[in-house]
Amino acid sequence: MSLNLRGRLNWWMGALASVSLLGACGAPDERAEDALESNEAVRDAVAGDVAVKLSVGKSAMAARDNVLVTVTMTNVSSRTVRVLKWHTPVDGLKEDLFKVTADGVAAEYNGRHYKWATPQATDYLNLAPGESVSSKVDLASVYDFSKTATYDIRFDSAGHHDATHDGVSQLSSGSVSVFVEGRPFVHPEAEAAPGTVTAMALSTANCSSTRVTSVTTAFNSAKTYANNAVTYLSGTPSATSRFTTWFGTYSSTNWNTIKTHFTSIKSAFDTKSVIVDCGCSDSAYAYVYKNSPYRIYVCNAFWSAPNTGTDSRAGTLIHEMSHFTVVADTDDWAYGQSAAKSLATSNPTRARDNADSHEYFAENTPSLP
Ligand SMILES: [Zn+2]
Repeated sequence: MSLNLRGRLNWWMGALASVSLLGACGAPDERAEDALESNEAVRDAVAGDVAVKLSVGKSAMAARDNVLVTVTMTNVSSRTVRVLKWHTPVDGLKEDLFKVTADGVAAEYNGRHYKWATPQATDYLNLAPGESVSSKVDLASVYDFSKTATYDIRFDSAGHHDATHDGVSQLSSGSVSVFVEGRPFVHPEAEAAPGTVTAMALSTANCSSTRVTSVTTAFNSAKTYANNAVTYLSGTPSATSRFTTWFGTYSSTNWNTIKTHFTSIKSAFDTKSVIVDCGCSDSAYAYVYKNSPYRIYVCNAFWSAPNTGTDSRAGTLIHEMSHFTVVADTDDWAYGQSAAKSLATSNPTRARDNADSHEYFAENTPSLP
């Protein structure tokens, strides 16, 4: 089932729950119908529903200054609309939501790369007609401003996001220009405490003892997944259904690209000091900073996932490990099995760069030859 359908199912279950709650209070049937109707009034924002405006406090930033930008989102439609919070800056920047360029060259996004789960009700921001929400973000904590230059900054949530979540609303703004004195990039969680060593190459941070046990089991299963993938890819290259389902068009070059990725993933699990940090409480599975190997932050959905199989804990660790620039430098072009399969057909180049495609290839559930 696609994420989109799962999200819709959750919505219906929520609607049904509110109906039965009213029933229990002895409310007449019409009130239950009203409750359904008012739920239906909140729909996902579509292009043009929400206006986004950027403003900066000053037009030039010294090296010691944050690069603060205020993002104001206004519902300019006549209905209440909802947007996924992670496609907005209301809870801090969790995606590559800005286009930041200097002399036409994009400033590198050094922020978090998530594996999102099915959105929960609390993951949405509802905006009434005419309502505005403003958030201030420090872009220097997320983008690379090491070059002294005039930067062109624009909000654009369309980016390369998949279209499988509800609430993907393609918010975009006009641009602002700001002169920024260059400064080295230091990511905001760089000072995180060193973890507790629990195994040869694995340590944990902010994990309870129960979670340390679960993480260790998942880590060992991820190692098995990486080993099995390398063994499989060391066989005679051909257009197998396992390869073409997840990575599309077969050629020996394409096969070798994926083999190189899994060889790096396996090597990282086998030989690097991997830290799994349990400090995240987002509804997502996990996230990493691509340029901060080998620390993986696991979040709420990780704990409700099975150890192995589709969208499992072990598979999530494969997904996250593939993101690191020094490992396979993958991105998130599509989330979920059905979107990843479609991507293999529509854009194999992106499929070979997509973290979930690597995860599903490794999980191999259901098993493909
Ligand atoms: Zn990811």
